[in-house]
Amino acid sequence: MHQPRHPSRFPLRLLTALTLAACSPPSPQTDAQSPEPQTAAPATNGSAIDLIVHGNYIVTMDERMSVIRNGAVAVDEGIIIAIGAADEIDAEYSATEVLEGDNRIVLPGLVNGHSHAAMTLLRGVADDLELMTWLNDYIFPAEVQFVDAEFVRIGTELACWEMIRGGTTTFVDMYYHPDAVASVVESCGMRAYVSATVIGQRSPDAEGAEDSIAKGLEFIERWQGRNSRITPYFGPHANYTMNEEQLRATREAANESGVPISIHLSESPYEVQYSKENYGTTSIAFLESINFFDGPTIGAHVVWPTEEEIPILAERRVGVIHNPTSNMKIASGISPVTEMLRAGVRVGLGTDGAASNNDLDMWEEMRLAAFLQKVDRMDPTVLSAGTVLGMATRGGAEAIGLGDSVGMLATGMRADLIQVSFDDVHFIPTYDVISHLVYVSDEQDVTATVVDGKVLMKDGKMLTIDTARVRQEATALAARIKTALTEQNR
Ligand SMILES: [Zn+2]
Repeated sequence: MHQPRHPSRFPLRLLTALTLAACSPPSPQTDAQSPEPQTAAPATNGSAIDLIVHGNYIVTMDERMSVIRNGAVAVDEGIIIAIGAADEIDAEYSATEVLEGDNRIVLPGLVNGHSHAAMTLLRGVADDLELMTWLNDYIFPAEVQFVDAEFVRIGTELACWEMIRGGTTTFVDMYYHPDAVASVVESCGMRAYVSATVIGQRSPDAEGAEDSIAKGLEFIERWQGRNSRITPYFGPHANYTMNEEQLRATREAANESGVPISIHLSESPYEVQYSKENYGTTSIAFLESINFFDGPTIGAHVVWPTEEEIPILAERRVGVIHNPTSNMKIASGISPVTEMLRAGVRVGLGTDGAASNNDLDMWEEMRLAAFLQKVDRMDPTVLSAGTVLGMATRGGAEAIGLGDSVGMLATGMRADLIQVSFDDVHFIPTYDVISHLVYVSDEQDVTATVVDGKVLMKDGKMLTIDTARVRQEATALAARIKTALTEQNR
């Protein structure tokens, strides 16, 4: 259902060619089963490049929401150098590696704008609890007891495996022992923001806020400019776990190092109440009053902004990350996503940590984001499939400050893209590919994941992570955690 009056920045102007097209077989000239030249000794005299990705549909997520039938994306040195009809791309280029496009949809990789990757190891450790009980009685104590660099390495690798498997190419992480996170990201090939997390209490890697800022500055110095896929940044936890002085100091340190900030922002009624009692005003208004938004900022959650606060987010260009599953599971509330988009706020999507989700499936976030707004407004026309797909790709990239390089398939963009198979019975019939991507697809339908032109997963097979080893390490560590928790609760 497309609603022309929707205020989204991702208007649905689907090409007419798209409708009802998937049922027809691919045209002979783009038959993806014909063998492609695998080396630089081709039958064609096309220029030699690294990679060509074919698809029955190329969903570009550009401003016009263009969808190319029987198309291809040409990639060289990590960059999209051409995109268009498959026969034209094949005539022009000869690639070392080709991803065939039979029954495949190609689209930009998904952007998970808020996560705590290593918390995969705490998946299911405590469920069905109110946020502050969950944090104070379970998560914070468990973290102090169990989280060390090894825990973070294993948990992050497990998360990256799950994210690559599900078509996520970029994630914004907020956790501890950031060197361990960055090392995993470096080796598995994803793109990530890795945080020096700051919290006003003892944490797994620091004695308090001052210590975490000092260590964070050292981490940023080690990683800034080292790998173009990895952006180190500061992650002050929230305004209820830090005081004004600590929040100001973190912003200052971030600005001095030239890195962004991400913070849990207006997540729960508790946070807003805490803010009123301790700072005299609501969360966003308070942070604005101390110039906290003076610099690139990503606000995670933003469930309870007041009417006056939404324009602040737009004016200050705060990227908002909506986490519908976590907000539902912890009963934090329903974020006014529709109003924020209407006010020009950049809104992306995130999974939050696996302990409050309990998976890292961005397809589920898309679906729930749409459904939650519709039922909240009692209006099925809000947050259309195209808008939600935009939030998971281009809009998410814009919200985190990477809009110039990823989130859209266009010449000159970094080659972060995925192939989704529509072989499964749940795609039949296919009237509208964008509807299916949002309302039908799940992470099992993703068959290939490419970041920076490098294929991280092909035909569902993980190429940069040793799946068997990660499974074994995660299972062994979880067994130790379970034993310790059982002993404790005896
Ligand atoms: Zn979070």
